[in-house]
Amino acid sequence: MSRWIIVSNRLPFSLAGSPDKKTQKIKQSSGGLVTAINGIKTKNEIRWIGSLAPGINENHIKNFKSKKNVSFSYPVISEELYDAYYNGFCNDVLWPLLHYETDLIQYKKENYDAYVKVNRIFAQHIAKVAKKNDVIWINDFHLFMTPQFIKEINPSLKVGFFLHVPFPSSELYRELPCRKELLEALLYSDLIGFHDFSYLRHLSSAAYNVLGYESSLLDIETPRQSVKLGVYPVSIDTQDFMNKAVSKKTSSIIEEYQLKKGRQRKILGVDRLDYSKGIPHKLKAFKKFLEDNPQMVGKVQLTQIAVPSRTEVPEYIKLRHEVERLVSEINGKFSKINYIPVKYIFDSVSVFELMALYRSSDVLFITSKRDGMNLVCLEYIVAQDARNPGVVLLSEYAGASSTLSHATLINPMNIGETANKLGQALNQSLSERKKNHQVMLDYLKGYTATDWARAFITHLERDVNQRVSSALCLDKAEERKKIIKKNKNGSKVLLLDFDGTLSPIQEKPDQVKLSIKIRRLLKSLSEENETEVVIVTGRDKNFIVKQLKGLKVYIACEHGASFYDYKNNKWRQLAASKNKPWLKDAKRIFEQYERRTPNSFVEEKEFALCWHYRQSPNDFAEFQARKLLLDLGITLAHEPVTVSRGKKIVEVKSLEANKGYFTDWFLERYVDSQAKIIAMGDDRTDEDMFKALERRGETIKIGHSESSYAKFYLSDQDLVEKFLEELV
Ligand code: UDP
Repeated sequence: MSRWIIVSNRLPFSLAGSPDKKTQKIKQSSGGLVTAINGIKTKNEIRWIGSLAPGINENHIKNFKSKKNVSFSYPVISEELYDAYYNGFCNDVLWPLLHYETDLIQYKKENYDAYVKVNRIFAQHIAKVAKKNDVIWINDFHLFMTPQFIKEINPSLKVGFFLHVPFPSSELYRELPCRKELLEALLYSDLIGFHDFSYLRHLSSAAYNVLGYESSLLDIETPRQSVKLGVYPVSIDTQDFMNKAVSKKTSSIIEEYQLKKGRQRKILGVDRLDYSKGIPHKLKAFKKFLEDNPQMVGKVQLTQIAVPSRTEVPEYIKLRHEVERLVSEINGKFSKINYIPVKYIFDSVSVFELMALYRSSDVLFITSKRDGMNLVCLEYIVAQDARNPGVVLLSEYAGASSTLSHATLINPMNIGETANKLGQALNQSLSERKKNHQVMLDYLKGYTATDWARAFITHLERDVNQRVSSALCLDKAEERKKIIKKNKNGSKVLLLDFDGTLSPIQEKPDQVKLSIKIRRLLKSLSEENETEVVIVTGRDKNFIVKQLKGLKVYIACEHGASFYDYKNNKWRQLAASKNKPWLKDAKRIFEQYERRTPNSFVEEKEFALCWHYRQSPNDFAEFQARKLLLDLGITLAHEPVTVSRGKKIVEVKSLEANKGYFTDWFLERYVDSQAKIIAMGDDRTDEDMFKALERRGETIKIGHSESSYAKFYLSDQDLVEKFLEELV
């Protein structure tokens, strides 16, 4: 049975008990991931890998009694290296970047180097622990580069990555000096998960803008593989919070502090004191509310828990000063002898105190400027008394806003509107509050932290299994050897695509030239007694004949529309219709796009029309390509053509011109049933050929794609030369 390997920056422990080190024990920290893993019922063994927090040692870990199928291990990282990696890069570069605060980024090359190093150390530890078929789940931005380093050690391991914070617009992401390296490394993952769809979209655009990788919204095509993307909003342990909220402990805290007494309406804020949480915005909106509603002065109180965070860092000290200045300003202006408008607590509170606060407040006020998800609002909902629930006033910039359909959403940047909405929240009728609360509670009852983790892991297990079973990697010489040995004796037919297979894809298609080495290899192969070589290409006759001059090979050009039989020195037209009723319309549309899109051009082939945009401005051309596909789809809906998008091309071709039809035709007439067949290709059009060979021969895709019909793949076009050499 496969194991689940959970990876996070830190192991989920903190020190508890007396500071005397001999007796001090560790306790498990709380958080979405810990809750999820603790709650999950599985027979799979779980290994959690993360670094050790200061003061925690091997003995603590050994003595910790965890669920019996969970064990822990840690990579060893020196304190100095960890500081540069964690404080210098994760906190000073990635955190502000991912939360849209690029002005706060303090990029230093040596800290980036430390980040790379620590990610490598993690990967080495993981690769040592992981066995075949294990599922590796890496958590968060501290380990963006670990997927690449794992795959470099062991490409067959399955790696999932979950981002717990936002992924910013690609316009911001591109400001990062090491943008390419970081993103490329992350895209070695098999699956990347997010809390919110907008984060997924931003990552897709960054992959395209920064690395030129195309994506449908559910995956990104890299030269190595197709990376799956998914949205899995985290949740909480609903039942546990519900129990705690009605526990004796919570009730006695409410009683002791008389939290429900008095005539004041209660607003609650619970945030780490971090710039992403927008606490100053909240205070300004509350102040505006009191200014606009003087009758409410004395009747409403905001309790703000500000959990200390990175207290030594200047940016955070500045934020604390700003928050405390605003608190004093409001309290100075509106306090009365028996009234303080803002109760400000710069500390954390116990979970039961938190439940008591949740349960005794009328409005939860969340004004995050950016927030991956925000668990506080989920906890607040399940802690409410369903007979008289409070209102969730939630920033639209928190990931939770996408799932909490019945929260009142606010744009905290708009102080006036937020103040108005605060007033509306305080006045929401009981029936409306009950209705909204019920919908959100039902959602959280049906979807807990455990469901979240299970959804992600199931997707990872299922997808990666699919990948392993769909195509095997031939990058290693010993794997190629097996195929070659199997096909060594007897007659052989090689069906080889041209662009992207025999020759690398280039900016200008007309400048492509077969390399001397490949030419020599094709010559040797074609002169072998029992081997026939067939070049199966989308190119037209003129081009391909020049490239293959002097070689004894069959040629199928324009996707098999025309065929050259070198033995009889004869061309045959395979696609029946010379007459192309669709051509005029298609040409008219193509030419419009050619005019509109700089550096794009139309190529007319005998059986196809093709629009190339490899050298055009990326974004604009990509947009035009999508629009062109729509236009062609409408205009040519009833014509005998296929309209498709390839690598930086859009093509309309006669239905008869298809590498699959050609393959069937050729096998029937030219190949005896005992002959061994090897087919290679890189593009979507080659899939027709692979499909035709589904029950026969070895099919090899150049570049990996999960949806391919090919049985094998080579990650890189460079490897084609090696393979042909080994065949010779
Ligand atoms: N929390 C806590 N003690 C406190 C205040 C908050 O343990 O005094 C917890 C709270 O219950 C929640 C978490 O801290 O589970 C905050 O999570 P959230 O996603 O809202 O914000 P983050 O701090 O992770 O950005």
